[in-house]
Amino acid sequence: MKILFATSNKNKAVEIQKLIPEGFEILTLNDIDLQEEIPETSDTIEGNAIQKTNFIVENFGIDCFADDTGLEIEALNGEPGVYSARYAGEEKDPNKNMDLVLKKMKGITNRKARFKTIISLSLDNKSYLFEGVVEGIIRKDKVGDLGFGYDPIFEPENIGRTFAEMTIEEKNTISHRGRALEKMIHFLNSK
Ligand code: IMP
Repeated sequence: MKILFATSNKNKAVEIQKLIPEGFEILTLNDIDLQEEIPETSDTIEGNAIQKTNFIVENFGIDCFADDTGLEIEALNGEPGVYSARYAGEEKDPNKNMDLVLKKMKGITNRKARFKTIISLSLDNKSYLFEGVVEGIIRKDKVGDLGFGYDPIFEPENIGRTFAEMTIEEKNTISHRGRALEKMIHFLNSK
């Protein structure tokens, strides 16, 4: 079965490719020659995921899925949340984003945070949503150089290492995106 993953983030495509069972061929935006950026203008994670699959269905009429993720920090009232990518500015610089989080968290003892991923799937013109969450804490410094985004400052609960200290395989077994994807794969396998 061929299905398009509506992302231009190569890191995510690599993570997800490793989890997809044989029998599913994942296409990416490179395969459909999409020139423009898919709009992500919703103020919720769910809304953005749905917006992305709606865009592909309306313009290309093919089965697809899209994910949207936010880092929700308890002491910052859920920030950066849906604005995770551009928290410190439109250039979407992960280091600047992490620096801003670390600055805002200075002196705060409640370090609780979670990553939430919503996957929107459009299959035969029907829509489905899958959620994956991983709880953890925000470290006081960046540690590790693997992964992407906020990985160097996020330590999943009871692990003792940041996401940036884990291989893709390790991260996938406990990550927000891994968990949401597992639910989608279970659903696809039952079809
Ligand atoms: P997106 O909407 O799924 O592209 O995610 C928004 C932003 O959240 C990204 O630009 C990253 O900064 C961050 N993010 C998403 N997934 C991860 C992850 O697995 N690790 C660290 N940061 C992530």
